[in-house]
Order: sequence, then structure tokens, then C-alpha cells
Amino acid sequence: MPLLPRLIRLHQALLPDYNRRASIYWWTVAPLGLIAIGHALWVVSGLPAVALTQVAVGVMLAVLAAYFPIVLPRTATAFAAGEIFVFLLLLSHGVEAAVLAAAVEAGVATWRVSRRWSSRIASPALGGLSMQIAGLLLMSVLGELGRLGVQHQGVLVMATLWFAVVHFIINTLLVGTLPRLKRGEWPSWSDLAGNFGITAAVSAGSAAGAALLTVSFRDSGVAVILVVGPPLALVVGMLHAFFKQQEAYREISEAAAQSARREAEITARHLQEMHHIAFHDALTALPNRRRFVEELSRAVQTAREQPESGFAVMFFDFDRFKVINDSLGHAAGDDFLIEVSRRISSRVRPNDLVARLGGDEFAVLVRGARHIEGIEELATRMQEAVSQPYIVAGTEVRSSASIGITSSSHGYDRPGDVLRDADIAMYRAKAAGKARHTVFDAGMHAEVARRLRLESDLRRALAEGQVGIAYQPIVELGSGRLLGFEALARWTHPELGPVRPDEFIPIAEESALIVELTDSVLARACRQLRRWQSQDPCFAELFLHVNVSDRDVAQRNLVARVKRELFESCVQPRHLTLELTEAILMHRLSTERGALEELRAFGVRLSIDDFGVGYSSLAHLSTLPIDSLKIDRSFVSRLGLRADDASIVRTILNLGRSLDKTVIAEGVETAEQLETLRQLGCHIGQGYQMHTPLSVQAVDALLERLVAPPVVPAAEILAEPQRLFH
Ligand code: C2E
Ligand code: CA
Ligand code: CA
Repeated sequence: MPLLPRLIRLHQALLPDYNRRASIYWWTVAPLGLIAIGHALWVVSGLPAVALTQVAVGVMLAVLAAYFPIVLPRTATAFAAGEIFVFLLLLSHGVEAAVLAAAVEAGVATWRVSRRWSSRIASPALGGLSMQIAGLLLMSVLGELGRLGVQHQGVLVMATLWFAVVHFIINTLLVGTLPRLKRGEWPSWSDLAGNFGITAAVSAGSAAGAALLTVSFRDSGVAVILVVGPPLALVVGMLHAFFKQQEAYREISEAAAQSARREAEITARHLQEMHHIAFHDALTALPNRRRFVEELSRAVQTAREQPESGFAVMFFDFDRFKVINDSLGHAAGDDFLIEVSRRISSRVRPNDLVARLGGDEFAVLVRGARHIEGIEELATRMQEAVSQPYIVAGTEVRSSASIGITSSSHGYDRPGDVLRDADIAMYRAKAAGKARHTVFDAGMHAEVARRLRLESDLRRALAEGQVGIAYQPIVELGSGRLLGFEALARWTHPELGPVRPDEFIPIAEESALIVELTDSVLARACRQLRRWQSQDPCFAELFLHVNVSDRDVAQRNLVARVKRELFESCVQPRHLTLELTEAILMHRLSTERGALEELRAFGVRLSIDDFGVGYSSLAHLSTLPIDSLKIDRSFVSRLGLRADDASIVRTILNLGRSLDKTVIAEGVETAEQLETLRQLGCHIGQGYQMHTPLSVQAVDALLERLVAPPVVPAAEILAEPQRLFH
């Protein structure tokens, strides 16, 4: 193969990452250095045997020293103590011997640290080249001085000393130029700066030592080497050890500093994380209540100072979150909340703040809100966004929000008051039928006051037995025959008049009064049932439905409470049905399944109230420990409105049939609904069409009429069953 392509291939193999200038430099100095080395080898090989041995020993000593370089602390600079042998060879055997020794020393040093052939070749070449140049310089100076008759030994020492400095400069520049060119820079004198002082001084010291040794050797023969050699080796060794120790100290202190730095970084990160945790909601990553209150108090302050910079707060509560959470599980609830947070966040301006206050409560701080109309528009848009169907746990669910709004126009002083009023407005929206927003007005405070009052009055009412019970008959739809009753709590407040269960039951549930209420209803209704059952043999099979709340089921002693009431009232367990909503059942099934099954084993019946508004029951129904389902009023009330509205009721009925569960229709309000239910095959129901919830006296009167039934043709009873009972 011709030379040029070979060289090109060699070039590509050796210097793949070298640019043009660095390549030219390498291809100039490396061959020159190699020529110098080759020439040195040729000259040295011609030396007499003794001199040749001395050169070999010198080179070996230089190589040995290269293996234990003295590394300058805090720098990447190392120098080999072998320089002294190189200088000795220079003075005793001439430039060529020194070139050889310098090249070998540099080669060995580079070989240890670099795997690249470009460096392994360039390094000895440059070492030899710089020694060649500096050595020739020294020799010509010494020769010139000799010609001038200056032969003093001190001159030799001084000249060698300066030679060492010159050699250092040449070597540093020759070696330092390569990396500079590779980086696209030009050679620079600044390369000399860094460790010039100490390295040049050590170099000069080595040179002076070598010169002194040479002079002494010339005067006193080999003995001087024996005398001076060991202390010199000792000094070099100590230097080596000293610097090594310094380096170790440096490494230790640097490691300590580094770990301190790392620790500080970790602490800072932890602090940041802690701050984030303290001010953000883990699930949605939105700011939490604390952060919201902080920002809100700033907004309150600003609004007081600059009334034109108004703000508004929207308070969200999701109308079906509990159902989703309880029936589809917490993971589904979480997915829902994350999606909700995304939808709300995407509708606000960057300047506004969306926060999750807890549970399914979200709040938005709208900054710079001037007109409440604008806020109401935003609330409508938000409502649209959150009302779109959600897919959670593979199920499509729907939800809507009750949104309470208040604004800085009320002249707030404290963030707590803002949140309280937004909350009040939200409650109002919820009470007004959910899926809407309400703007707070001062009159709403009265509502909250009422809530608080009802809670404390309910406590007293329960203690004083003011809470009564209404009994809504449950009948056989086909015949109108009375089958049993649902016990419904009633409360007539001494001053406020009748309070609707929809109002006081949630208050009781929130304040844990519900357990007392359930106990009271259960005890009195059971006794009442027993009385009615024993009035006439035809009433012996009348049954009783009692509503229980989530807290009741969560109570450890539910089974014992129910059993005690049954024993004390002498009601047979099969005549008592506990009504639980789907949500309660799903929520408590994992923890309270044992209790529910124990009740059933005892003979007590369980029924799912408001069936159809939850989600999971269809899938889980066959495994639930229940006996009957009550179709939610909302499905019954739609019967007859549109042709396809019967389909949900039909589905529930088919489901009940296939799973062998009794299906009860509630809220039957019209003759049409009653007829449709009958046609669909629903046999049992309750509703205003047959009976409203009745007082004890009204039931007494009803039963009286039943034991002495008027002679009414059956067809008439079916057409107008209420006539039979009223
Ligand atoms: P619920 O368990 O679904 O009770 C049936 C409700 O529907 C009763 O309302 C009843 O008066 C009403 N209702 C009956 N027939 C009709 C009808 O034809 N049309 C319409 N629109 N409504 C009808 P009430 O008595 O106001 O009770 C409301 C809710 O309060 C009950 O719903 C139940 O969840 C709860 N509740 C009532 N009493 C108790 C109780 O003693 N304990 C517990 N835990 N909850 C109770
Ligand atoms: Ca019920
Ligand atoms: Ca119900």
C-alpha cells in the first residue's frame, strides 16, 4: 500500500478527534521528537561499555522515579524525581543520554495514566525533543564559556540551574500547546503560570543538585555518589511521602467539604420538600388549605388597602363524591379528584389560585375580580367543565358541583370569614338542588345560626324524647295488602316547628347524634310493631324497616344493640329489616362484613336503600349480604314520563329476580306509576299514592279498619287502593 493512504489510516486511528491545527502540530513535533530519540539511541549505542552501563543505570533510575511521581497538592501537576538522574546523565554523558532518559521517563509516566496511543507516542517524543533543544542550548553556552576561558565549577552549577528553568519552559510550552490546539485555542504563555514557581524551582533544584554531584564526582570520584546518593534519595523520598500525605489530607478535607455540601444540598431539598408538603395536597399537587388561607389573607389585606383590587372566592363541593368513593373505592375517588383538579385548574387565569381544602372540597381564589357577574359566568363555565362524564376505575360516572361564591365587596378582615361565607353559600347551593352556584349574601348567616341551633336543640330533643316516629306503610302493590312499615324519624321543634329529616338527619350524622337517634327509633319502633303485631293474628307478620346510617354500622356494638332491642321488644328478627344505602354498604363491607353477616345469621334482614344511585352494586350485588333492594324514588318518579324510563326499573327488577332479592319500589306517587310497577312485576312498594308516613294514631286507625274490612270489590281496591286504608 502506498505511503499516503497508510499515513491517513494511521492518522485516523491515532487522532480521530484532533482538529487540523492540533493534527499538524502532532505530526510535526512527534516525528521530530522520535528523530531526536532515534539519534540519541544511535549515539548512545556507540558509547564505551562502562559509559553505556552508567547511562542504562541512569535511565533505569529515572524510570523508577517516574513510577513514584510527586503529585503537587491541589493540582493535577506531577513531576518525577527522576529529573535529577536525567540532569546527571546530561552533565556526565551528554545531551543524547539525557534525551533518552527524559523520553523514557516521560513515556513511562504517560503510559501509566493514558490509554491513548496519540499521548503515549507524543509524550516521550516531546520529552526527548525539549531535552534535545534545552540540552543543545546548555552545551553551546558551556562550550562558548569554555572557549572564553570561564571554567569555574560554580559557573557549571549556575548554568545548569538556568538550563533547568529554560528546559522547564520549553517542555511546558511544547506539551501544553497540544491540548490548547485541540480545544481550538492558540498556545499561551499562561500555561507557564499555574505551577511555574514550585515546579521550576524543584526542577532547578534538581539540576543544581545534579551539577553539584557532577562537580564533586569529577573531583572526588565515585565515592561521592555513595556519600551523597543516600541522603539525596532520602530527601526525594521524603518529598514524595510529604506531598503524598498532603494530597491525602486534601482528599480527606475535600471529601468532608463535599459531604458537607451534599448534606447542605439534601437539607435544602428536604426543607423545600417539607415546605411543599406543608403547603400542597399530596394527591392533586394543588396548594392546600394552609397555603390557600395564606394567599387569601394577603388578598384580604390588599383589598383593604386598595379597594379597587377586589377578589372573589369560589368554594366547590362535589355532589356525588361520597357515592363514587364508597361504591367504586378510594382509588377511583382519587382518580376522580385528580381529574376534577385538572378541570378546575384549566379554567382559571394564571393569576388565580386553585386549592384542595380537603376531601372533595376545592376552592378558587379569583384575583382582581371586579364584577360578581364575571365570577358567576366563570362559575357556570366551571360547572360545565366538572359536569362532563368522568371515567374512573373503568366506569363512566357523572358528578356536579355545588359552588358557593363570595367576594371582597363584603369588606372582610379575616380569611376565615371569607371561607366561612363561601362555605355557607355552597351549602345553600347544595340545599337548592345541587349542580348550581350561589352567591353569598348577609342573610345567609341566619342559616348557619340555624344549623348550629338545630344541632344543640336536637341533642336536647333526643334526651327529652321529642323526636317522634312516622310509620309509612309498605304494601303489596297488586292487592294493596299492608305488609309492614318504614319507621321515619320526625322532629317538631318547640319554636321552629317541624324540621324535615333531610335537614336534621345530616346534622345528626355529622355530630354523631345519629347513633342515639337510631337507638331511640329502633327501640320505640320495635315495641310499637310488637304492639300492632299482637293486636290481631292477621297482623302477626307485619314487618318493620329501620334506616341506619354509616356511623351506626361503624359502631362496634351494632349487632349487640339490635339484638338487645329485639329481645326487649319481643320482635322476631325476621320482622326487622335494616335499610342501608349502597354507599354505606360498599364503604363498610370490608370492615363490617362480619357484623352484617352476623345480623343476617340471626335472622335480621338487610335492604339496600335508594338503590340505583350508586355504581358498584350491579357488579357486586350477588355477593352482598342483603335480602332486598329499594328502587330509588328518582327512578320511580320518572315512570310514565317517557316510554323508555321504565327500562331502569325493569333492569333492577330483573336483577332482583335473578339474584333472588325482593325489590321494593319507594316514592310511588301516582296511579300511573303504581300501574306501571305492577305491570313490570314489582310486587311491593310504598309511596304517597298508597300512604304517606303516618302517626301511631293514624296507623292504629288504619289497622282498626283492616280487621273489620268493608265489603269492597277487589277490582276497586286495585284501582284505588288508598281508599281501603284512608
Ligand atoms: P328514605 O329512607 O329514602 O325515606 C323515604 C323518604 O321518602 C321519607 O322522607 C318519606 O317521607 C318520603 N316519601 C315516602 N313516600 C313518598 C312519595 O310518594 N313521594 C315522595 N316524594 N317522598 C316520599 P323523610 O321522612 O323526609 O326522610 C328523608 C330521609 O331521611 C329518609 O329517606 C332517610 O334517608 C332519612 N331518615 C328518616 N328517618 C330516619 C331515621 O330514623 N334514621 C336514619 N338514619 N335516617 C332517617
Ligand atoms: Ca329508607
Ligand atoms: Ca329511600
